[in-house]
Amino acid sequence: MAGLITRFAPSPTGPLHLGHAFSALTAWDLARAEGGQCLLRIEDIDTARSKPAFEAQIQDDLHWLGLSWPEPVMRQSTRRAAHDAALARLQALGVTYRCTCTRGDIRAALSAPQEGAPLIGPDGPVYPGTCRHAGHDDPTAAIRLDMARATALTGTIRFTETGPLHPGPHQFAPDFLTTHVGDIVLARRDIGTSYHLAVTVDDAAQGVTLVTRGADLFEATAIHVLLQRLLALPTPAYHHHRLIRDEAGKRLAKRDESRALSLYRAEGATPADIRRMVGL
Ligand code: GLU
Ligand code: ZN
Repeated sequence: MAGLITRFAPSPTGPLHLGHAFSALTAWDLARAEGGQCLLRIEDIDTARSKPAFEAQIQDDLHWLGLSWPEPVMRQSTRRAAHDAALARLQALGVTYRCTCTRGDIRAALSAPQEGAPLIGPDGPVYPGTCRHAGHDDPTAAIRLDMARATALTGTIRFTETGPLHPGPHQFAPDFLTTHVGDIVLARRDIGTSYHLAVTVDDAAQGVTLVTRGADLFEATAIHVLLQRLLALPTPAYHHHRLIRDEAGKRLAKRDESRALSLYRAEGATPADIRRMVGL
């Protein structure tokens, strides 16, 4: 049996901060404990926000933390053909439609009096389905997943969580996915793919058997497992770890440059200090 393969998959849209360090150290620790491997994947599909300088800094910071990974590193921006092929397969299944809505259109539709308070899904407010039966054929439009049709094919979505926060098997029923997740975007108008599609296709392509990432992506996992079912890909196990928060209890974000690892490095912190700071 092949050993455990997990990964750290940062987006090079900002410097690594303590939250990323915790995620990376967790992934490499899990791999080491099982005699497995941790891969690095650069999630740079958002070409407007991704910067080569951040990518270089990320690799430098990870090396400094004492982490290493097999080369070559997968860069998602080189994976467009695989993402397109998966999208074509979903289109052939009849579980997609084109959506021409702007953010403003969606906001307006959600604020219509009969809509009530919008439910918030993994990608923000659940899409109200405006374009679901519109039959748009504009090739530059975004492509959404028709969640009702998709779950009619897959039934209940199941995955195993190995992290301490939500241990055990999990299941997401079609009704829940349709109501609380909704018709998520598979291919953005600007980049032709999406986080959900790319992460699902590329984790499978890399033979990942354990996805290690923050608890903020727990609900997104239901989308990824659903896409695995539709695309006949294996389902890995999942380990969603706690999030590192600042003193005010707010989750660290890329823009919190004050927490950049490079700043702690410049102030003379050691990798052991960083481990202590994130509670490892
Ligand atoms: N690229 C994503 C991020 O930096 C993480 C994706 C994942 O681990 O699934 O937030
Ligand atoms: Zn639309």
